Amino acid sequence: MKILVINSGSSSIKYKLFDMSAELLLLGGMIEHVAEQGSKVKDHYEGLKIILEKISRVDAIGHRVVHGAEKFKKPVLIDKNVIHGIRQCCAIAPLHNPANLAGILACKKLLSGIRQVAVFDTAFHQTLPDYAYVYGLPYEYYERFGIRKYGFHGTSHEYVVNEASYILKKPLNKLKIITCHLGNGCSISAVDRGRCVDTSMGFTPLEGLVMGTRCGDIDPALVCYIMHKKSYSAQRMDELLNKSSGLKGISGISNDMRTLVDRKNKGDKRAKLAIDIFVYRVKKYIGSYTAIMEGLDALVFTAGIGENQADIREQICRGAFAHLKKEPKILVIPTNEELMIARETFGVIQAVS
Ligand code: ADP
Repeated sequence: MKILVINSGSSSIKYKLFDMSAELLLLGGMIEHVAEQGSKVKDHYEGLKIILEKISRVDAIGHRVVHGAEKFKKPVLIDKNVIHGIRQCCAIAPLHNPANLAGILACKKLLSGIRQVAVFDTAFHQTLPDYAYVYGLPYEYYERFGIRKYGFHGTSHEYVVNEASYILKKPLNKLKIITCHLGNGCSISAVDRGRCVDTSMGFTPLEGLVMGTRCGDIDPALVCYIMHKKSYSAQRMDELLNKSSGLKGISGISNDMRTLVDRKNKGDKRAKLAIDIFVYRVKKYIGSYTAIMEGLDALVFTAGIGENQADIREQICRGAFAHLKKEPKILVIPTNEELMIARETFGVIQAVS
């Protein structure tokens, strides 16, 4: 079975085609400048037409969908109701879900007989207990507006825990694992015997770790304080927290960890501070997730920083497990979200066939 994986963003469409008999990647690529002013690719329909011209046969399509809220706890075959559900989630993921939906609708038009599956970034975290996902706000905000922790990068966390179980030759239900997805966006999850029990991103991908340009956890009162002090609009404040903070904001140099390590080695104090804060936050989360799981068998690093920067991994792990009776296994596992989406799509198609 040939499965096409589509990651449809606001101005780009990434794609990969897999032959699932051997999980072989047949081709992949990206269409850029989708729906941008002056671009030849005027919308997602045109972008997908270009992609499909390169492909001779597709049996099913798997779509990455960022937000499934509480509606979607696992991957689903796309029908009218699912499209309606994804559209409803646009309110809480206005930057991502509309673009994901545009990709789905374009594929429906272009390949009307081909089955499509939606795979949600949030689904893996739907097993969190209520005491981990409800915020300390009036409860009606959860009930009326769906304000709660959702978590993101779920496909990546799920992929690497499965790989970890395979590498350690132990079933997931016998393992307590912490997964660190450290890229430009960063998140960390606690996976207790196969169930995700906590994750650092929240209602949006801004909560938790310090990231390339996002601040992660801060005192929420700072939002009002800064808006008042600088007379910022809500949009300007949102930009500050999401685009000018994190490693970039602290260092004043770059959001790229490689650049910061280089500058730190040349004596730059702010680059060093940005790295120290980054490492400290990851280590703090590892400590708290070890406590809530009452132990730790394996710590997994993945994504750009996690996979490639041994010095950062070493700083995070240094002394972190001194209190444990047994050192956990430390694993570096390259993430493969597209393959995970292809596997999930394959699973759904087989189940309905
Ligand atoms: P994204 O969240 O955009 O997918 P990545 O997973 O590509 O991000 O991670 C980007 C981060 O990883 C940057 O801070 C970059 O400096 C760091 N990094 C370190 N080594 C590499 C590498 N060999 N390739 C890509 N990114 C790397």
